[in-house]
Amino acid sequence: MNAKTSLRPKAIPVPTPITQPFWDGTRAGELRLQRCSACGAHHLYPRFRCPACGADALTWVRASGRARLHSYVISHIAAPGWENEAPYVIAVVKLHEGPTMLSNLVGIAASPDALTLDMPLEVVFETRGDAVLPLFRAINASGVPS
Ligand SMILES: [Zn+2]
Repeated sequence: MNAKTSLRPKAIPVPTPITQPFWDGTRAGELRLQRCSACGAHHLYPRFRCPACGADALTWVRASGRARLHSYVISHIAAPGWENEAPYVIAVVKLHEGPTMLSNLVGIAASPDALTLDMPLEVVFETRGDAVLPLFRAINASGVPS
């Protein structure tokens, strides 16, 4: 058996009632956030009340899908299902709307030489079993994948 062969599938998120709209969005090719109708703040992860003002007037909105690289780590240790992909980039991205989220970068070398903090990113979607996950790829200043 090839040592790089994956023995187990990657983990798949299990939606809960409060996260279901987020996962419905990714299946539709949209990154969705909660927005507070009282103060206008965007939020991710999903909540029942606005963490900025306490209002319970949260609605789901489509995010732009644009982000900046806030922080990252390059994993050289393959988690189950990631045996064929190490090293890979685990990133904290700051969405254009304000919230940060944890994701992976794709289509870019997992090397500090290729990764610059604050570099522009855009969301892409990867189908994994029954779920569709939001990942990010680098784009140039004109919004073109780089
Ligand atoms: Zn609010």
